[in-house]
Amino acid sequence: EETGSGNFIHTFITEDIAKNGRFAGQRVHTRFPPEPNGYLHIGHAKAICVDFGTAEKFCGLCNLRMDDTNPTKEGTEYVNAIQEDIHWLGFDWGSRFHYASDYFDTMYELAVKLIQKSLAYVCELTPEQMHENRGDLTHPAVSPYRDRPTAENLDLFARMKAGEFEDGRMTLRAKIDLTSGNFNLRDPVLYRINHMPHHRTGGKWCIYPMYDFAHPIEDAIEGITHSLCTLEFEDHRPLYEWVINNIDLPAKPRQIEFARLGINNTVMSKRKLRKLVEGNYVTGWDDPRMPTLCGLRRRGFTPASIRTFCERIGVSKVNSTVEYGFLEHCLREDLNQTAQRTMAVLHPIKLVLTNYPADKTETFEMENNPERPQDGSHTVTFSRELWIEAGDFLEMPVKGYRRLFPGNEVRLKAAYIVRCTGCEKAEDGSVTTVYAEYDPATRGGDTPDGRKVRGTIHWVDAKNCADAEIHLYGSLFTVPEPEQEDDFLKVLNPSSLEVLPNCKVEPTLQQADAKTPFQFMREGYFCFDKDSTPQHMVFNRSVSLKDSFKP
Ligand code: ATP
Ligand code: MG
Ligand code: MG
Repeated sequence: EETGSGNFIHTFITEDIAKNGRFAGQRVHTRFPPEPNGYLHIGHAKAICVDFGTAEKFCGLCNLRMDDTNPTKEGTEYVNAIQEDIHWLGFDWGSRFHYASDYFDTMYELAVKLIQKSLAYVCELTPEQMHENRGDLTHPAVSPYRDRPTAENLDLFARMKAGEFEDGRMTLRAKIDLTSGNFNLRDPVLYRINHMPHHRTGGKWCIYPMYDFAHPIEDAIEGITHSLCTLEFEDHRPLYEWVINNIDLPAKPRQIEFARLGINNTVMSKRKLRKLVEGNYVTGWDDPRMPTLCGLRRRGFTPASIRTFCERIGVSKVNSTVEYGFLEHCLREDLNQTAQRTMAVLHPIKLVLTNYPADKTETFEMENNPERPQDGSHTVTFSRELWIEAGDFLEMPVKGYRRLFPGNEVRLKAAYIVRCTGCEKAEDGSVTTVYAEYDPATRGGDTPDGRKVRGTIHWVDAKNCADAEIHLYGSLFTVPEPEQEDDFLKVLNPSSLEVLPNCKVEPTLQQADAKTPFQFMREGYFCFDKDSTPQHMVFNRSVSLKDSFKP
């Protein structure tokens, strides 16, 4: 399933090059064509890896093209974010950055030429009438406007462009085949009227080309050899080729389709992601629970983990859903190599070592990453009062509990063995302080007499620590396939975010680089949130330590 060695797209391209036909002498040239109407998500990452990765594989080129032929909801905010996200993933388009809207004049001229060749006509059927006519194969109703004289078509199309008609009043349609078995060939619409300002062309246009007409032209203008797209366009390929073969542009790009990426426990269409943002169900497009690339980045996902994920899921012709756990698995694998180990207490209670001198402080060296000794170590301080996890003490231990309870010994990670002697409780019965005695002969955590100590817990020196807010994340949805629901908002998980406002961390974190990934021992992998400051540190849990993914 590794795709490094090649996939069916690579096979097709290799054949195309070998054939010495339409691609002879051409450098492989692909493009990634996002519509700037939202932020990129993990599905787009797959397309980016396929488009840029294929170009890399063949020492070719890959364009970044803003497919901005539909003014609704498009904007500069998205253009900038898309560029940032692709660069973050590690791909670069160099100088090959384009806007489909730059070709509006050319597209219009090509449409005029189709009219002149009697291959397009202005149709005045309403969308409803058109739908009826296109659906019925046994009685394919001919548009009464199909045989309009060329001169009249040219005149009407020019007037459509000039703004004489309101939205929906008429369309330009290709004259192909109303009886075709392929719905897309039944005189598809090429241009529609839309009196809406465009983010780049402003009020210049009130007619906009449809995707099926615009896309092959964009590809041909840019000299794209292989136009890689998702499977839902497979049925549109005959129309793509019809356009390519009936317009006057020298390049003849080939469309190849591959399966869309679906991931469970999340939604991926921009329309739905936008609903989450606009309804304030999340804090924004970059909410760490979002499957957007900016959300994943804020959550602590690394570009390498996402690229590895895309490579391992492979490229095929069959749509399938990948487990969210597999994405997390790829992140864990990467962070295990790179994350700096440190201790943080998420639900702090005091541990007081009653036989440890009150004015004493000693230090311990902790390895930054046992996977990479070259990453060195850092110093942690230790004194009489420490913070430990509330969950690491039980006054009445349950069976198999190996952490602190009266009479039991545990190891304080990298420091000493301590024996619990009791606790103090608040009026409501909650434990506020745990008491223990340390064994001075066990410095470093070894027992000289060889006695077994089963439990090891983490801690932070209460005398020398920093406060932090930590965010833990669960799935946004309570069902594995929220896309299948009538109303996906009804299955939102009300507890997908848990905020822990009073955590204790090692104070050296205040000096750490904002990009450092951490492993908080026993708690998972964490990163600084983008709103974190040294004065008010905020961490996001990127992923827990436990791998639920079963390959
Ligand atoms: P959405 O349905 O999420 O709005 P889209 O396809 O309309 O996505 P575009 O901006 O047009 O979004 O997508 C740019 C490119 O990314 C297209 O080539 C599209 O096929 C590809 N793409 C989008 N979603 C996925 C996905 N889930 N898996 C693989 N490729 C995708
Ligand atoms: Mg699209
Ligand atoms: Mg879409």
